[in-house]
Amino acid sequence: MSAGRQSSAGPDHDVLVIGAGFAGLYALHRLRTDGWRVRVLERGDGIGGTWFWNRYPGARCDVESMDYSYSFSPELEQDWQWTERYPAQPEILAYLQHVAERFDLLRDIELGTEVTAAEFDDHAALWRVTTAAGATVTARYVVMAGGNLSAPRDPDIPGLDTFAGRVLHTARWPHEEPDLAGARVGVIGTGSSGTQAVPVLAERAAHLTVFQRTANFSLPAHNQPLDPEVAAELKARYRDHREQVRYSRNGQLRAWGERSALEVTPEERDKEYEARWQVGGGGFIGAFRDLLADERANDTAADFVRGKIREIVHDPAVAERLVPSGFPIGAKRVTVDTGYYATYNRPGVELVDVRADPIEAIHPGGIRTASGDDHPLDVLVLATGFDAMTGAVLAIDVRGRDGLALGEKWAAGPRTYLGLLTAGFPNLFLITGPGSPSVLSNMVVSIEQHVDWVADLLGALGERGHDEVEARPDAEDRWVAHVNELSESTLFPRGNSWYLGANVPGKPRVFMPYVGGVGTYRRHCEDVAAQGYPGLTTRDPAAR
Ligand code: NAP
Repeated sequence: MSAGRQSSAGPDHDVLVIGAGFAGLYALHRLRTDGWRVRVLERGDGIGGTWFWNRYPGARCDVESMDYSYSFSPELEQDWQWTERYPAQPEILAYLQHVAERFDLLRDIELGTEVTAAEFDDHAALWRVTTAAGATVTARYVVMAGGNLSAPRDPDIPGLDTFAGRVLHTARWPHEEPDLAGARVGVIGTGSSGTQAVPVLAERAAHLTVFQRTANFSLPAHNQPLDPEVAAELKARYRDHREQVRYSRNGQLRAWGERSALEVTPEERDKEYEARWQVGGGGFIGAFRDLLADERANDTAADFVRGKIREIVHDPAVAERLVPSGFPIGAKRVTVDTGYYATYNRPGVELVDVRADPIEAIHPGGIRTASGDDHPLDVLVLATGFDAMTGAVLAIDVRGRDGLALGEKWAAGPRTYLGLLTAGFPNLFLITGPGSPSVLSNMVVSIEQHVDWVADLLGALGERGHDEVEARPDAEDRWVAHVNELSESTLFPRGNSWYLGANVPGKPRVFMPYVGGVGTYRRHCEDVAAQGYPGLTTRDPAAR
């Protein structure tokens, strides 16, 4: 389908895309194919988004490689060969580089270009976008493709800036791999990034101290080389597989248990958990239908994992510190690791429980805790996470109709229609925004769906001869209420997680992702389009 450009005069570009990760690259490809004049602005010095920045040792995706890849090109998916079950960061980055070259994307991407502000001009119905270098560009439409986990957070610990050694954040890892041989390394944070980095850092450093505030539930990845026969078999039915994935629960074809964990015997339950533990990966959490809905059901899965931790970790005192408590398994994102718990059996690896003995200060030589214990360090690794889901968008001073600031509109939490648009901000699209499945799904599947939906919408606008589109406030209110209602029926809000903004002091506590499932959500978006976009207002340029 070719929408064609709407006008040759007017804005510098038809569409400005912010971010050149999975979302920005596909947005450029799809919209340019549709005939729009598209420009991508990317703050990094390379493409890849998350996979450009998060190059810490052990960085690996927790979605299997053959699913964590674009489906828009049958030729691409046949040609590209993944080498491991779960792709490591360098391989994902190489894949994205290949995609960018194969589809000639680089010529429309400006690297090293950070967007600082975006202001909607009501009169001309265009966006004026400002960069950190002070340049201003205009576009009819803006696509926010900056990612859900791309605004890294440093911990608020006194003395961090006095540390004499090197400070490394997992999400800003240097391109030249630091030499850790002989170093005493400290890691703060045991979420997905910390859990993946710790086993590799333990191999490289002379001594590793892990500062853990909340013990997390971690599942084994059982990563392995991808069997070429398995890959070939999937490739033979890739189209059909992709279609099923698009209507699945989370963008991966997992066996979701249909039984309640409470209606089977303890032996049957443990057999199911053990089978899934042996398979590896996040599929464990789908063992029974009510694990994320019923606390008693959830306890059975949590207890199983607690038992595994006690089995793996030799020192019972260390094992007890690693055993999570106080929140349901899955309410904070489960991490998928390679040898995380067993790392604590290595000599030279120490676990400090900073909930029991809080970090008092970082000083030039290391970290001191409240008990007076001192931990001398040469290198400090911050695996302290992100201002998730809204951080990247709100880092830009976005102003919509009548100068309304997005930060002001979202002061009590993000409000969107379908996670794709927000009322008062015409012609602005959020890829995998809050209120869509986003981080609860295979991101690539959700990204492709959002980009295609936006591209189809722009095509439909063009056919109407309109060039302005905006979410209706009543449609947005209904969507926000629906998203909240769905999350309240689950255990998700019971974890102090970044899903809720709980990791950022002062951030409103709102459960941000849509929990109703990828397939249900996609059907809803398709219905909206089929009905002619009833939740949106569109405008004719002649009316301006
Ligand atoms: P995270 O899950 O937010 O974990 C941050 C960790 O730092 C938590 O353990 C947190 O403790 C701790 N922390 C933060 N501030 C602290 C402080 N002042 N003192 C002590 N500890 C502090 O961040 P992340 O590990 O970077 O992961 C974020 C998300 O990115 C993941 O959930 C996942 O969605 C994605 N990710 C995915 C992969 C993958 O695909 N395998 C890999 C990495 C990241 P509390 O829990 O107590 O707050």
